[in-house]
Amino acid sequence: MTTAAPLSNSSIQREIVGRFAPAPTGHLHVGSLIAAAGSWLIARSAGGRWLMRMDDLDTPRQVPGMADDILKTLEDFGLFWDGEIAWQSRNRDAYRQAFDELHRRNLVYPCGCSRKEIAQAASAPHPEDDCIPYPGICRAGMQEGVAIRSWRLRVRDDNICFDDLRRGRVCQNLARSCGDFALRRGDGEFAYQLAVVVDDHLTGVDQVVRGDDLLPSTPRQIHIQKLLGLPQPMYCHLPLVSGPAGSKLSKRDNLVSSHLGSFRGREGVLLLEALRFLGQDPPLELTGASCGEILRWGVACFEVSRMPSSGGELRI
Ligand code: GLU
Repeated sequence: MTTAAPLSNSSIQREIVGRFAPAPTGHLHVGSLIAAAGSWLIARSAGGRWLMRMDDLDTPRQVPGMADDILKTLEDFGLFWDGEIAWQSRNRDAYRQAFDELHRRNLVYPCGCSRKEIAQAASAPHPEDDCIPYPGICRAGMQEGVAIRSWRLRVRDDNICFDDLRRGRVCQNLARSCGDFALRRGDGEFAYQLAVVVDDHLTGVDQVVRGDDLLPSTPRQIHIQKLLGLPQPMYCHLPLVSGPAGSKLSKRDNLVSSHLGSFRGREGVLLLEALRFLGQDPPLELTGASCGEILRWGVACFEVSRMPSSGGELRI
């Protein structure tokens, strides 16, 4: 994947609809708070709305009570959303329609390959990407007697480019980075890549702000949008919070919710640090302020162009 200088967001004139879309598989951690606060501030500072969606398709990984825990955490930080909460698990008919259309047009095919087979057959995986390029084994048809493990969308051997508000121009060749990718599992469940495109479109989301870990997914989502004739949202991928010595944070770290006791009444301290992490310069007078006051400052003063080019540790 290649990137170039960032675009300013000053020329954007359409109504902004942003969103936050966590999966209820664990407590929010500091990294997810950055994504929530960042998407909230970028939408609100442009006069936009901010929607809430639970990405609850991956049933086995879900933890009971976590959706409520996430919503409560957001409220504690003053990150209130507009309108009804959307739930992916209630939207399977819409995913099925989109999938059927792509299938009818012969853009999707069944695949019987296991992860292990793909890893063995693929040439060296791309270190920058989050998937092993699928070498196209089932593209021309599956072997007889093999069970369907996934349904894959055909990709083309050309560049998909978009202008990320922070990262600038990003280009990726899907055939080389990822190959034909899964839209649906063999058990019928729809993949994140398809669901997110359909949901964002149906709810009018035109500003997708999320962590940099999802940057490699974006060209796949744009490919789906193009095939379905859907408008492309603007994208902004935020710097990632790392653990000590650059290690990746996971939901298992549970840094926000497990320490919520110690943050209760001090959410503002963490929120101010989140703003600083995002390159903003909140005035010292906001020390000790409530989340509401800090967010009001953020709505007036947040500048996308100040965001840093890389992430790091967030010190609290
Ligand atoms: N549900 C995804 C996650 O929890 C994020 C979806 C998105 O922002 O596109 O990582």
